[in-house]
Amino acid sequence: MTKQNVVVSDAEAEIMNMAISVAVSNSSIFTAVAEKPPVGPPGYISISRKRFMNLKNLDSINGAERINSWVDSMRASSPTHLKSSSFLKEDQSSWILQHPSALDMFEQIIDASKGKQIVMFMDYDGTLSPIVEDPDRAFMSAAMRKTVKKVARCFPTAIVSGRCRDKVYKFVRLAELYYAGSHGMDIKGPAKGSKYKKGSQGVLCQPASEFLPMIDEVYKLLVEKTKSTPGAKVENNKFCLSVHFRCVDEKKWSELFLQVRSVLKEYPKLRLTQGRKVLEIRPTIKWDKGKALEFLLESLGYANCTNVFPVYIGDDRTDEDAFKILRERGQGFGILVSKIPKETTATYSLQEPAEVMDFLQRLVEWKRQSIRAHSML
Ligand SMILES: [Mg+2]
Repeated sequence: MTKQNVVVSDAEAEIMNMAISVAVSNSSIFTAVAEKPPVGPPGYISISRKRFMNLKNLDSINGAERINSWVDSMRASSPTHLKSSSFLKEDQSSWILQHPSALDMFEQIIDASKGKQIVMFMDYDGTLSPIVEDPDRAFMSAAMRKTVKKVARCFPTAIVSGRCRDKVYKFVRLAELYYAGSHGMDIKGPAKGSKYKKGSQGVLCQPASEFLPMIDEVYKLLVEKTKSTPGAKVENNKFCLSVHFRCVDEKKWSELFLQVRSVLKEYPKLRLTQGRKVLEIRPTIKWDKGKALEFLLESLGYANCTNVFPVYIGDDRTDEDAFKILRERGQGFGILVSKIPKETTATYSLQEPAEVMDFLQRLVEWKRQSIRAHSML
């Protein structure tokens, strides 16, 4: 069969809905004429025509097979599988033009923030710490901690993570930050040492409290159900759950997905999404990292201000909700941490946590210089 390609949006692949959005960029793709694969929009991935036809035929096969096929297709189309493909190498340069490095664009970023209060928001895993095999050992380096501490002295700073707030605090160990754990469903202000602290700053927001008993119940069921899959790790993030598959064998992945899905069938008020090497289970309430960002801006007194410049740095699909809010507000910008092209609403990119640290250090240095310059006037 002629190897032709269609373009599938990776970001739309939300597992529970079994929805995959297929954007056909050219109606001639179904003709038998051999041609170069169409280059899709930034961050889009390419799958073969044969696989696309398999996806189209999913309705004609039965339940478990249908899910398996879909999962296999999604897995096979994952960035991990595609990162060595020639398509991606070709696409990399056009993607970086649309999402330039925040380090290369540093001067422009500073110009855009002139006269405005920068507020920093950062994801944890894959942004401040590297993605490691054991999620319990995703430690940040001492140098990164020192840098984040300096950032918090210069700007109001928040960590926004899918992790349980207590756990992310144990990793970061900086009392002067705002923390939004459980994908923003558990927000607490600085315990001490922040000049941006407002009032007593205890727990500020827990919009999913009613789900706590359900989350605990599902956690126990998932631990039991997934114990037959080597490498699977269920993490209780208080208001949400994560099933890590960083250490699960490729062949066992679809089995794990079916195990998780069979538990969640009984819980329609919980939804399942796939993140970076993790399945995320969250309440269906309309609350995400974007809402957390808005809530924090409001808590800091910037709800209706035009002189605020929020910067959000993250590597995950769940961070897209925050990038989108910044686009909609027309304030600040998002920075996606990724080595490979991904569909994103972030404006800029950084390749890895080491580059995030470089960017943060430059920001701190610029702020110190501008304070010095101002004091000499
Ligand atoms: Mg992350």
